[in-house]
Order: sequence, then structure tokens, then C-alpha cells
Amino acid sequence: MYDAIVVGAGPAGAMTAYHLAGAGCRVLLLEKHKLPRYKPCGGGLSLKLFAALPGNLSGALKGRVDRIGYSYRCGDHFTAPLDLELAMVDRPEFDRRLAEAAVAAGAELKDGLAVTALASERDSFRVTAGRENFESKYLIGADGVYTVVGAWSGLVRNRRIGSALEVEVAGLAQDRRAALIDFGRVRGGYSWSFPKGGRFSVGLGGRQPAGLKAELANWLDHLGCRGAKELRPRGHALPEARIGAPLQRGNLLLVGDAAGLVNPLTGEGIRYAVQSAQLAAEAVITGRVAAYSRAVKERITGDFLFSYWLRAFFFRWPGFCYRVFVKNQGAARALSRAFCGEATFRELFFSSGRKLLKGRVLHAG
Ligand SMILES: Cc1cc2nc3c(=O)[nH]c(=O)nc-3n(C[C@H](O)[C@H](O)[C@H](O)COP(=O)(O)OP(=O)(O)OC[C@H]3O[C@@H](n4cnc5c(N)ncnc54)[C@H](O)[C@@H]3O)c2cc1C
Repeated sequence: MYDAIVVGAGPAGAMTAYHLAGAGCRVLLLEKHKLPRYKPCGGGLSLKLFAALPGNLSGALKGRVDRIGYSYRCGDHFTAPLDLELAMVDRPEFDRRLAEAAVAAGAELKDGLAVTALASERDSFRVTAGRENFESKYLIGADGVYTVVGAWSGLVRNRRIGSALEVEVAGLAQDRRAALIDFGRVRGGYSWSFPKGGRFSVGLGGRQPAGLKAELANWLDHLGCRGAKELRPRGHALPEARIGAPLQRGNLLLVGDAAGLVNPLTGEGIRYAVQSAQLAAEAVITGRVAAYSRAVKERITGDFLFSYWLRAFFFRWPGFCYRVFVKNQGAARALSRAFCGEATFRELFFSSGRKLLKGRVLHAG
């Protein structure tokens, strides 16, 4: 019998397993794919967060960017330096190395083994994966946006999702120290091109369910990518966070995308996967699991409320907001500080509001 079974070895699962094993718990980490596995993702996170993660991650770091080149519908370009650098990671390698860190801390990893059935007894869970059955006192759902643990527990029902498409390409004439972000083509989202060593993660995502493929082709064309038609982009869903939703039932807890922890404005989720992993592990170690949902609201989703408001405003009037809130050194810096976790989205919301009220709009651009 394990103390905890963690389902899914993305950043949320690997980090939960790492913390629990480090505290002396007997942990089983189950992953349906053989690691390393491909995960459509831009792989952008703050360098500060990256540097604080355990294990030998240097081989997963494919680039560092210190500026963002913004554009609106592929025109009206504007480059903003970042106060803090962003790390660009290769997700398969990043996730594999985090799982290795969990194993080094004492967790047992079984990859290539999908969880297919779950059952609860009085004080334990029974988890079926392949032909094997495992038992544990705690069960952690770290199995991504289509979580089987969340569905089985009843904590996740009729989840609203956004859509994203991503492809890796080589040979773009793009500055390797700059990430590119374009607004105005995808409803409720944006297009990106992130440098990863000799390659680039190019994609787009938002609340637009149809037409993404054609928009990605236009974006690739704009970036000067040759042979875009032969490329096979991969789609993946982004969960819409529900603020204050219960994420725990008994000794079962959800973390990362399984818990819906993706920022509604930026689409980033690695940071929240790592944060929720720590909160879930603390809840298990201290035996205070009933406080977990509230802790996630206080530390993570409470701030998403402001991301939702910013998103609603920004994507209602994208051209106007681009000129006022992005194409402006101060505003672009505030946005990058929020993305790096150095400022909250609440602060970004109020600084944007003040900018409007002070009438700077009239002088912008
Ligand atoms: C196109 C795209 C671009 C993105 N770009 C960024 C970005 O630049 N920066 C950022 O911070 N975030 C980004 N995100 C979000 C980020 O990828 C996720 O938030 C992050 O991966 C969440 O980590 P996780 O561990 O919760 O889930 P995942 O990384 O999805 O891991 C879940 C794991 O569970 C496994 N699993 C699923 N079902 C089972 C099962 N039944 N049994 C066993 N294992 C199972 C899966 O195989 C998977 O390995 C992007 C997302 C998309 C779709």
C-alpha cells in the first residue's frame, strides 16, 4: 500500500511526487506514455521559476529570451525588453527530468501505464493501470485537462475549454533572444513564436474553436516558414479555470491542468502546476487536505479573476487595447512582470485601470 498515488507525470504530477517522496512518503507516479512524451506547449516560463526547480534541468533549457516582439494582426510592431528573462524549455525533456527528480527523491515511477479504473474503499483508493492494481491512502489527479481522476471523483464536470495548436519548426529568421506574440487574429487569445535553440515553437490558442489551422498557416507564412503546408501541428485543450471550485474530495486532490489551473489571460500553466503541486503535497504531509481548495484559491485562482476581467476587456476591443496596454513600454513591462510572477494580475488590472482614468489613452502610441 502506497501513501500516495499520483496519476500523470507532467510538471504537476512530477513535482507533487517529488515533494511527497522528499517528505518520506511512499509514492507511486503513474504515467500513461513512455517518457519522454510529446506535449504541445510553448514551453515558456520565468527563468527564476526554472532555476528554482529540482533536478538536472540544464539539458531541457533550449533558450533564454530577454525581450518580446509584439504585433497586432502581423503589423504595428513593438519590442519591449523584459525586466526578467524567460526560459524556453523543451517540454518532453523538461518533464522527463522533473520525473527523474521525483524518482531521485524516492518516488517510484511507472510510465507507459495508463490508469483505466479507479475505486475507493473505506480508507484507501484502488487504481487499475494496465493489468496491475495499486492501493494508496491518498490519490492525486495530475492527469491533465481531460482528467480521469477528476471525472471519476465528480470534481470535474462539463469543463469549459479553450483550444491551442502548436508546431515546432526550424530555420526562421527570428531573433533568438526575442519571443514573438501577435494579437488580433485569434478570438480570446494570441499567436506566438518562441525560440528553442535552433528550432521554434510556433502556435496559437484562445477561445476560438474553429479556423485555428488556417490562422496558424497564415502566422507561419508571416514568419517566413517554408513548407508550412507539410507540417503537422498538434492540437491540445486548455482548461478554463473555475475560481473557488472544490479541488479535493476526501483524500483525493487535483493539481495542475486537472484542477483547471491555466491563466485565463496568458494561457500559461507550468507555474500553477508547480505551485499547486507544492500546496497539495503540503496538505497531504500536514494532514490538512480539507484546506487545499481554499489554499489554491488564495494563492492561485483568486488572481485569475483579474485575468478574466483583463481578458474580457482586452479581447472585446483588441486593437484599442493593443495600442494602449501593450504598445507602451510601461504597460508591456507590467505585463511581463505579471507573466514572470513578479507582480499579480490584480496589480496589472488596477495599473491598467489607472492608465485609462488618468487619460493617458489620449497620449498613447
Ligand atoms: C499549445 C499549448 C501551449 C502552451 N504554452 C505554455 C507556455 O508557454 N507556458 C506555460 O506555462 N504553459 C503553457 N501551456 C500550458 C501548459 O502546457 C500546461 O498548463 C501544463 O502542461 C500543465 O501541466 P500538468 O502536469 O498539469 O499537465 P500535463 O503536462 O498535461 O501532464 C498530464 C500528464 O498526465 C498523463 N495522463 C493523462 N491521463 C492519464 C492516465 N489515464 N493515466 C496515466 N497518466 C495520464 C498525460 O500523459 C500527461 O503526461 C500551453 C498549453 C498548450 C496546449
